[in-house]
Amino acid sequence: MITTRKSGNLGPRAFVAGWPITHSRSPLIHRHWLAELNIAGYYDPVALEPDDALDFFCSLAEPASPFVGGNVTLPHKQTAFRACDQLTDDARKLGAVNTLWVEDGALHGDNTDGAGFVANLDQQAPGWDHGSGSDPVVVLGAGGAARAILVALFNRGLTEITLINRTKSRALDVKADLGLDLNIVSWDQRHAALAGAKLLVNTTSLGMQGSPTLDIDLSGLAKEAIVTDLIYAPLHTALLVQAKEKGLRAVDGLGMLLHQAVPGFTRWFKTRPHVTDDLRAKIIGDLER
Ligand code: NAP
Repeated sequence: MITTRKSGNLGPRAFVAGWPITHSRSPLIHRHWLAELNIAGYYDPVALEPDDALDFFCSLAEPASPFVGGNVTLPHKQTAFRACDQLTDDARKLGAVNTLWVEDGALHGDNTDGAGFVANLDQQAPGWDHGSGSDPVVVLGAGGAARAILVALFNRGLTEITLINRTKSRALDVKADLGLDLNIVSWDQRHAALAGAKLLVNTTSLGMQGSPTLDIDLSGLAKEAIVTDLIYAPLHTALLVQAKEKGLRAVDGLGMLLHQAVPGFTRWFKTRPHVTDDLRAKIIGDLER
């Protein structure tokens, strides 16, 4: 039972809620920033059963709540969306929330995955979006993460996007739900569909520890192309290794995880943290344990 107050001597308290929650690296990230910035605050994992999720999120705006806000992970992002009084444009488009905060007695929700994705590219591959908006982009996968990335890419002015998913109907649903002008290509056409692409994003779970490898021939990509994987365990996926062998720029998924955490921390603890090499090294150390 959590009895800590929102503020006062004990400092603001935030959470990450999911089911299960033990795998989450968010406490490590936020506690690193709290210590680094010398902030008297708290960030705790909350194991939240699906049946309790809506009540938990709705209770956050009550004055008695111990929390100033928190992060939401699987499987609660849609439930948190439903509990919010106010939503950012991205959260509204995506129908899913990963960051909550209380402001003027109302529960606010944002989805920071897309912002984390572009901030990671900005840091790891500066200039990645400096070409024309018609530079071809290929996104593999049509799950929740793909939706966030597609919205973020359009927000950045990249509009020539091919979406490829094993289950084509799911890609068509994404196109319809988001109302984006996407070029949908079948999974078995994925190799040829890379021709001339300047950015390739893997949002499938292929290549993750315990999953099969992503089978894709990168030969058709533009020679200056960037290849990025959302997967960060392992950090150097077979896709990224293949990209580097071909002399392409390769960006791993860890930075997205770190950057998506920045807006929440800034809201709760009133200080903007930085994604540093120290933080990266700490999380990599944890992933390698
Ligand atoms: P999701 O909703 O479950 O989507 C999974 C995607 O992978 C679907 O497109 C699915 O295709 C595809 N897939 C799964 N097995 C496949 C196979 N054998 N062959 C071809 N395609 C396959 O998951 P998500 O939430 O979007 O997450 C996707 C990945 O991104 C995960 O690896 C997750 O860890 C990672 N991620 C990373 C970050 C970060 O901060 N770096 C953030 C969010 C997610 P179907 O539709 O055909 O099933």
